[in-house]
Amino acid sequence: EQDVAEYRKSLAIRVSGFDVPRPIKAFEDSGFSVQLMNAIKKQGYEKPTSIQCQALPIVLSGRDVIGIAKTGSGKTAAFVLPMIVHIMDQPEIEKEGPIGVICAPTRELAHQIFLEAKKFSKSHGIRVFAVYGGMSKLEQFKELKAGCEIVVATPGRLIDMIKMKALTMLRATYLVLDEADRMFDLGFEPQIRSIVGQIRPDRQTLLFSATMPRKVEKLAREILTDPVRVTVGEVG
Ligand code: ADP
Ligand code: MG
Repeated sequence: EQDVAEYRKSLAIRVSGFDVPRPIKAFEDSGFSVQLMNAIKKQGYEKPTSIQCQALPIVLSGRDVIGIAKTGSGKTAAFVLPMIVHIMDQPEIEKEGPIGVICAPTRELAHQIFLEAKKFSKSHGIRVFAVYGGMSKLEQFKELKAGCEIVVATPGRLIDMIKMKALTMLRATYLVLDEADRMFDLGFEPQIRSIVGQIRPDRQTLLFSATMPRKVEKLAREILTDPVRVTVGEVG
């Protein structure tokens, strides 16, 4: 335990929550498949970043996580890699719609996450689709109808697509709210609540934010179950 505390300190990581899994030292410690390890190596990722060291084992254990870390700390892989594992673990079912749903504040951020998710999911036959404004709704509708396992979306356009019945949240069990503080700043709280309300309550929920204003804290308390909080560096 002393060693774990020292290791966390060396990573500039603080955690709160009960039964928090110990941080990993290498991607190999995550039990990833050979296929996923190859995809990670192909990205040139040699070792996990601080947030990845601590968040990966927690998320892989199925727990909800609040991740507080500044930009550039490697949060995307911290939620995308376990999402691939989560999806590969799902039994084949008849239901339609994405299993993993990622909400991000802007189309640029959604697009970046989409590219990162695609890199890791391609070799697994997992289909990723991005849903944000600035593209024809009809085109998006048609493409979504073809089906996918991961949707990366801005909240407003995702709601539009759900309303148009381009997709349902019936199969969704893994929800990520990325840059939650910025989504609130942009006024997306009602859309976020609407999306969350359509996803089964026994889902796994991850919330990432650079800061934790009271409104975001309140949402986190309402929609996450026994979360582990991971804070990196001086933020939060
Ligand atoms: P954040 O979401 O925290 O702002 P990103 O997930 O966008 O950070 O990652 C920032 C950059 O670091 C990206 O270019 C990403 O490809 C890279 N990166 C992420 N994890 C690793 C890693 N383990 N090793 C090397 N580079 C990484
Ligand atoms: Mg990010």
